[in-house]
Amino acid sequence: MLSRKFEYLRISVTDRCNYRCSYCMPSEVFNNNYSYIAQNKILSYEEIIHLCSILKTIGLRKLRITGGEPLLRKNIDKLVYKLKTESGIDNVSMTTNGSLLTDSKLKQLKSSGLDSITLSLDTLDPKKTTKINGTKKHFDLDMVLTGIEKYFTTVKTNTVVIKDINDNEVLDIVNKISTLRSEIRFIEYMDVGESNDWNFSKIIPSQELYELINSKYELSAIKTDKSSTSKKWALKNTSSSVGFISSITEPFCNDCNRARLSVDGKMYTCLFATEGHDIKKIIRKNQSDQAILDYFYNLWSKRSDRYSEVRFMQKKDSPKVEMSYIGG
Ligand code: SAM
Ligand code: SF4
Ligand code: SF4
Repeated sequence: MLSRKFEYLRISVTDRCNYRCSYCMPSEVFNNNYSYIAQNKILSYEEIIHLCSILKTIGLRKLRITGGEPLLRKNIDKLVYKLKTESGIDNVSMTTNGSLLTDSKLKQLKSSGLDSITLSLDTLDPKKTTKINGTKKHFDLDMVLTGIEKYFTTVKTNTVVIKDINDNEVLDIVNKISTLRSEIRFIEYMDVGESNDWNFSKIIPSQELYELINSKYELSAIKTDKSSTSKKWALKNTSSSVGFISSITEPFCNDCNRARLSVDGKMYTCLFATEGHDIKKIIRKNQSDQAILDYFYNLWSKRSDRYSEVRFMQKKDSPKVEMSYIGG
C-alpha cells in the first residue's frame, strides 16, 4: 500500500462530447451505436455537492470539472457556485475543448466562482483541427484565449503531442500562447481506455520537447508541488511557463493525490483502473455522511495503484475504462 494524501478530485460530469478526438473518443467507436450512460444513472448536481461536502472534511481542496465536454451539461455554472459556496472547496477548475465558450459564458463561469479554465489545444491549424477532432465547425480561438485571460488572468492550455500529427507545431503553440499570461502544458499521449490506437512509437518524450523549446527560449525551472503532475519551466522575457506531463517516460504514481469520479458515480483511484467503486450506490441508499466517508476512506487507504510505473511489465487482464467516462 502507498500512503498518499487525498486532496484532489476530478469529476466527469458527462461522458458525451461534441468532438471526436482520435486519441480520446475516436469516431469509429463513439458513433450512433455507442451506449452512453443513461440519464437516471448520472450523478445529479445535488449528489456531487453532497459528496464533495463530505470529502472536504478529510482534505478535499481541489476539484476539476471535466468529461466528456463539461460545457454540454446544463447549468454547469450552478454546480460550480454550489461547490464553492456550499461544499466550500478552495479551488474549482474546468478542462474544456473551448468550443462552447463565449464572452457571456466566460463571464458567467467567473461569477459562479470558477478559479481557472484549462483549454485543450492540440493544433493552431484549422485543417488539422478537423483531422484531430472531427469537427468542421471552428470556434474563434483568439476570442476564447483573450476571453480566458480577461476573466481568469492566466490562460492554461493542454496539448497532447502525437508523433506525425502535431509534434511539428510545438514551437508555434509556445510562440502564440506565450504572448499571453499563460501556463502551457504538453502531455505525452497516454494509453487510456481501449478505443484509441495508442502505441509507444507515437510518443514524443517530454525531454525532447524540453530541448526543443529550450533551444529557442531560455527555460528556468519553477518549483512545483510534490503532487503536481507536471514539471514546469518559466519562459524568459514572457509571463508564461511551460510544463510537461510525462506519464509515459517519467511516471509519478508515488505522489498521486487524486481520485476520479465517473459520470455514474464510481470512484476511481487511478486513471488506468479497470473497475471503480460504486459510491453512488451508498449515496442513493441514503446512508449517513459517516457511512459515505467510511466507504471512501476504506478504498482510498487501500489504494496501491501505480499503473504508469508498471505499464510495460504487467499483463492485461480486463479492459481499461475510457477517459471521457472517468474524466481526463
Ligand atoms: N473535453 C474536455 C477537453 O478536451 O478539454 C475535457 C475532457 S478531456 C478527456 C480532458 C483532457 O484529457 C484533455 O486535455 C485531453 O487532451 C486529455 N486527453 C484525452 N485523451 C488523452 C490521451 N489518450 N492521452 C493524453 N491526454 C488525453
Ligand atoms: Fe471530447 Fe475532450 Fe475527449 Fe476531445 S479530449 S473527444 S474534446 S472529451
Ligand atoms: Fe496516479 Fe494511476 Fe496516473 Fe499513477 S497511473 S499517477 S496512480 S492516476
